[in-house]
Amino acid sequence: MDRLPEFRLLRPVDLAEAVQLIAEPGARVLAGGTDLLPNLRRGLEQPTTLVELGGVAGLSEIAFDSDGLAIGAGVTLARLATDTRIAGPYRAIAEAAREVAGPQHRHAATVGGNLCLDTRCVFYNQSAWWRAANDFCLKRGGQTCHVAPQGQRCHAAFSGDLAPSLIALDAEVERVSARGRRRTPLADLYRDDGAAHLTLDPGELIARVHLPRPAPSLRSGYRKARVRGSMDFPLAGVAIALQLHGPRIVALRVALTGTNSQPLRLEGTEAFLGAAVDAALLGALGKLVARQTSPMRTTAMPSNYRRQVASVLTQRLLQALARPATEEDRPCA
Ligand SMILES: Cc1cc2nc3c(=O)[nH]c(=O)nc-3n(C[C@H](O)[C@H](O)[C@H](O)COP(=O)(O)OP(=O)(O)OC[C@H]3O[C@@H](n4cnc5c(N)ncnc54)[C@H](O)[C@@H]3O)c2cc1C
Ligand code: SF4
Repeated sequence: MDRLPEFRLLRPVDLAEAVQLIAEPGARVLAGGTDLLPNLRRGLEQPTTLVELGGVAGLSEIAFDSDGLAIGAGVTLARLATDTRIAGPYRAIAEAAREVAGPQHRHAATVGGNLCLDTRCVFYNQSAWWRAANDFCLKRGGQTCHVAPQGQRCHAAFSGDLAPSLIALDAEVERVSARGRRRTPLADLYRDDGAAHLTLDPGELIARVHLPRPAPSLRSGYRKARVRGSMDFPLAGVAIALQLHGPRIVALRVALTGTNSQPLRLEGTEAFLGAAVDAALLGALGKLVARQTSPMRTTAMPSNYRRQVASVLTQRLLQALARPATEEDRPCA
């Protein structure tokens, strides 16, 4: 990696100031920097100004009210992983936060940064000289996608761990810009294009994530597969929110990461409502995942392996969540 390029560093103290600064041409948001700074050192981005959000009042709060939970974009993943109020009812979020990178990263890394991290590809997350030697690629500076040379789109994979858990729990994001605020479903923050996977407008940033109160019997969890167990991006990751009445499913939401250019909310799970979690259902769910995930040759692991891992992780997680609750599963006071 090269040295960091020159840039102006600005530190707003409130959101109004932050959105004014981020509206300037060449400005980028800087949160924990654990994704953005390595990318700058690889020459993947050349912002002239970084707007650092660490001092912005209110962005680091976790607030509960009668509607549910609001998580500030500046909350660190270390805090999310250990906050006992989240661990019970919103278990999938705590589990996903715990799985991101290593402990030191998680102390700096934020919710906003994790939701907005860049997509990844073996032909892209490389030094400038490596990419130059390969004539760059469609995503930055080149004409051809080395993964799918006949196509005209980038297939780099979205690999954030947090988004699937939040999507499975029906999260909305609060977006703020100089033009005002709006709330949209988190799934709508993304599009299936590895070169432009975020739907943030120019000058728009994420202020908070909002989650509805979960039904008392809702269970959720997150599982991922990675090359290095101690610290690595997901080859595939899955979050499930499940509600049972006796042995029968009354709510089932599944979301995945690592396999497509956007976090994938699995479609068609309503077909399982009213059914029990048995071998036939798990087999059908596995097939649904295999049909909708489309991993490409963007990691060192073969695409088909990632597709199969996504199916198996989903089946195992649903099986685990459907087991009778133990003491460990009960929400923390
Ligand atoms: C060795 C290593 C391993 C890693 N492993 C994982 C992993 O296993 N799983 C995983 O998910 N990630 C992993 N990461 C990536 C990264 O650490 C995390 O995704 C982290 O959560 C990013 O958050 P951050 O606050 O550091 O974001 P930053 O690097 O500060 O920002 C990332 C991007 O988000 C934008 N951004 C930040 N905040 C906002 C906001 N509020 N509104 C709009 N845009 C915003 C920035 O402009 C930038 O484009 C790893 C990184 C490293 C270096
Ligand atoms: S998928 Fe293709 S265009 Fe996208 S980063 Fe990889 S090689 Fe480049």
